[in-house]
Amino acid sequence: MKNVTIIMAFFLLLLLLIGCGAVTNDIEVEHDVTEPPPEVIELKSPEIIVEDDCPENNDGETLPARFTARMFDNVWESANMEHSRFQTVEDFNSQADYYISVISEFVLRENWYEQYSDTPSIEFLLRDRISHVAEQGNRIYVNLNKAGFEHDLAPIAHEITHVIVKSSHDRTVSLDEGLASFMQERFGKNPTVHTWGIDAHMLAKMFFINYEDDYSSVFSVIGSGDSQEDRYMSGEFHLRQIFYVLSHSFTKYLIETYGIDDFMKLHASRDDLLDDYHVLYGKSYEEIKSEWHSVVESSPGMTLEEYDNHLEELFDRHNWPFGS
Ligand SMILES: [Zn+2]
Repeated sequence: MKNVTIIMAFFLLLLLLIGCGAVTNDIEVEHDVTEPPPEVIELKSPEIIVEDDCPENNDGETLPARFTARMFDNVWESANMEHSRFQTVEDFNSQADYYISVISEFVLRENWYEQYSDTPSIEFLLRDRISHVAEQGNRIYVNLNKAGFEHDLAPIAHEITHVIVKSSHDRTVSLDEGLASFMQERFGKNPTVHTWGIDAHMLAKMFFINYEDDYSSVFSVIGSGDSQEDRYMSGEFHLRQIFYVLSHSFTKYLIETYGIDDFMKLHASRDDLLDDYHVLYGKSYEEIKSEWHSVVESSPGMTLEEYDNHLEELFDRHNWPFGS
């Protein structure tokens, strides 16, 4: 039973995977979950990947003031919201605005929109693909996985974080994904993929105990800026899940121990990331990693069976058909 449920969970994860969600002026990386990822992930492509079927404001609505989030009625009406937390599209828009406000304040980027050309707007779309962010001119599209949205498992706060804090793509994706996942945990009203409402340190310990070799491989590159990070983030599913959880756990450790200010400076590092650990924290990268690992080791932890039960209960609670 345990294995069956875990397999079901993995199928769910494949459907709900959050993408890298990197919205920047020159990259976006995502992968169709039905296809194996390429062996080498090119993160520095100069082209902007834009959906070619983004809807226009076809009902004549004009977008509200800058950086206000908006899902249009036709998008909302395309979803079955029977199991959603939102009663109306206005409920959704107001919660998305709340996320923009609290996340931008927390990460010290209240003027985040100035990094975009003109006056940006954020539009939410629902798609049968992994959640991700795309940018087109002064319009930013947050594409949420439709099934996840319908079952209240969409990473709304996570993707909004990617809009507010652009990718540090030439540095370390673990800090990007860690921050987005940490914001989802801190401000999100719903659990989402990879941690499922479980404390990230606790889940990291679960991986450490049950999959020590995989854990160690991923652990070695977290926060390093090594190109191997990109391979874990976009590659084989099991390692990708560990990558997201460890990124989340590491970011959580840095922010909760040393503060958001230094974390944002580290995230913005463009010179020598590993040296910047020492500059910012007065300790080497290795020392910081060791401190973090001690925190993971001393966290309560959970067994595979408890993890399995948690997922089963979660899917039931969210009326997910695979979990019933
Ligand atoms: Zn992401």
